[in-house]
Amino acid sequence: MSDVTPADLRRILDQQRAAFLNAGPPDLKQRRTDLRHLKAEILKRRSDILRALKTDFGQRSERESAIVELIPLVQSINYMIAHLGHWMKPQRRHVSAYFQCGRAWVVRQPVGIVGIIAPWNYPVSLALVPLATAIAAGNRAMLKPSEFTPATSAVIGEIVQAVFPTEQASVVTGGGEVGAAFSALPFNHILFTGSTAVGKKVAEAAARNLTPVTLELGGKSPVVIEPGFSMQRVADRVAFGKLTNAGQTCIAPDYVLVHEDDRDTFASAWQEAVKKQHPGGYVGSPDYTAILNQHHYERLIGLIGNAETQGARVIRLGRDSAADHVLAPVLLLNVTPQMAVMQEEIFGPVLPVLTYRTLDEAIAFINARPHPLALYYFGDNRTERDKVLKSTVSGNVTINGTLLHIAQDDLPFGGVGDSGIGAYHGREGFIALTHARGVYQQGRFNAATLLQPPFGKLTDAITNLILR
Ligand code: NAD
Repeated sequence: MSDVTPADLRRILDQQRAAFLNAGPPDLKQRRTDLRHLKAEILKRRSDILRALKTDFGQRSERESAIVELIPLVQSINYMIAHLGHWMKPQRRHVSAYFQCGRAWVVRQPVGIVGIIAPWNYPVSLALVPLATAIAAGNRAMLKPSEFTPATSAVIGEIVQAVFPTEQASVVTGGGEVGAAFSALPFNHILFTGSTAVGKKVAEAAARNLTPVTLELGGKSPVVIEPGFSMQRVADRVAFGKLTNAGQTCIAPDYVLVHEDDRDTFASAWQEAVKKQHPGGYVGSPDYTAILNQHHYERLIGLIGNAETQGARVIRLGRDSAADHVLAPVLLLNVTPQMAVMQEEIFGPVLPVLTYRTLDEAIAFINARPHPLALYYFGDNRTERDKVLKSTVSGNVTINGTLLHIAQDDLPFGGVGDSGIGAYHGREGFIALTHARGVYQQGRFNAATLLQPPFGKLTDAITNLILR
């Protein structure tokens, strides 16, 4: 696929807008049919998708991709098909005593044309869940996938083209420049998934058109472990969260905050858990994924090197391959907040461990930094857990586990502050991409008409009655 020009983008948008105005909002039956077609096409192209992901990453676990890309995507489409009827129903609202013969309700209207910008780390689900949500909400959509996953973008383009006419949904390709032109278009909503830095640029461009945005961004998601908690359980689940997609996951546990007395137990349990999950090593393993490209591999090597120079203990858990940009898991002990690894989102299989003496210290550490996209708490003590949850602000939380809040279709998914604006998934996705239009129908008899001119004594009596 060749990159689009700004003129192409504008033409597609105009075409979609004209079709939207002409056809009006699709009914429930049409939306369900569209979603079923989309799901069928995704399933039909399953092996093409998995092959394309492998091409883009060089080494990407097919089984893991099926589990973390395709299952959540298909599940979320199924969920939308099942619940859309309920979400679309107009909602009766209360009218006050003075308007009693009237009626009020809220209709969720499609907003029109949604612009979707997707990142490279889960290039299938992070492109197609937003698209399915836009369709479920009755909109039309333009989608710009990442320039770093060209093979996957090509398959996504073919899937979308097979299911939808261009005036309903269209995939356009290109890098940052196309992204900038794309986000400057007068969409009715932009759903952006990517880094905080680019998210700010998208918000700025959208503001010029007063286009509302949903920004799904990144950040450093902490794991807080309660003092004395079983480290086997923690280690296994943190390893799963950190090593899925080799840590290239927006909600991957970024670093661990553990009580100083438990640090060594955690460190050995983590090494055990990692070895158990990946007995065959990393380079060439069918269960492990490479870092996207040389640039990101070098970036991670740089973070490890910087930590080592500043006194961190680096525990490498396997053999790497610079040529294939495969990075084996790395545990970092004696980490300080000044190290580069604690200054940026890691986005790789590197786990810094920091220690605390009291939970208050751990809470203060989190609160001194931008709000994380996810927070993980391990522990059975309700009082301690509630204290951490009440005293911090973050995107979603998984208790005694990692990542899995994302698989709950009935939970909103989104960050807060630097980790995002707004949320989608399930019902919240439908809400984000529709407009809540309030409708009031005045009754034949209505006390409010007594407050119209000509005013008189009765007006005063009613006014005084209300203003008691
Ligand atoms: P990125 O921000 O570099 O790119 C994301 C998309 O934005 C790409 O399609 C890119 O072409 C486009 N883009 C680049 N410059 C642009 C501009 N000026 N205007 C508009 N669009 C532009 O992010 P990435 O490297 O692809 O992805 C990694 C980041 O995404 C990480 O920070 C990660 O945490 C975050 N992420 C967040 C979520 C979430 O759901 N919250 C999910 C996955 C990834």
